[in-house]
Amino acid sequence: MKQYECLVPGCPWHTQSEHDAEIVRRAADHLRETHGETVVRPEMVERIKARIHEPQPAQ
Ligand SMILES: [Zn+2]
Repeated sequence: MKQYECLVPGCPWHTQSEHDAEIVRRAADHLRETHGETVVRPEMVERIKARIHEPQPAQ
């Protein structure tokens, strides 16, 4: 399982998936719907991928 938090400061949106590609797709949809990004450019996709990480283990 992988986890991703929105790269926009202060935005609480996050998602989890087994697949990086699914996270990127959801993150791109979120950027369009919530943050008004009409085009998610390759640089943005790279920034999204760089932020995908393993979830923190529950304490
Ligand atoms: Zn967001």
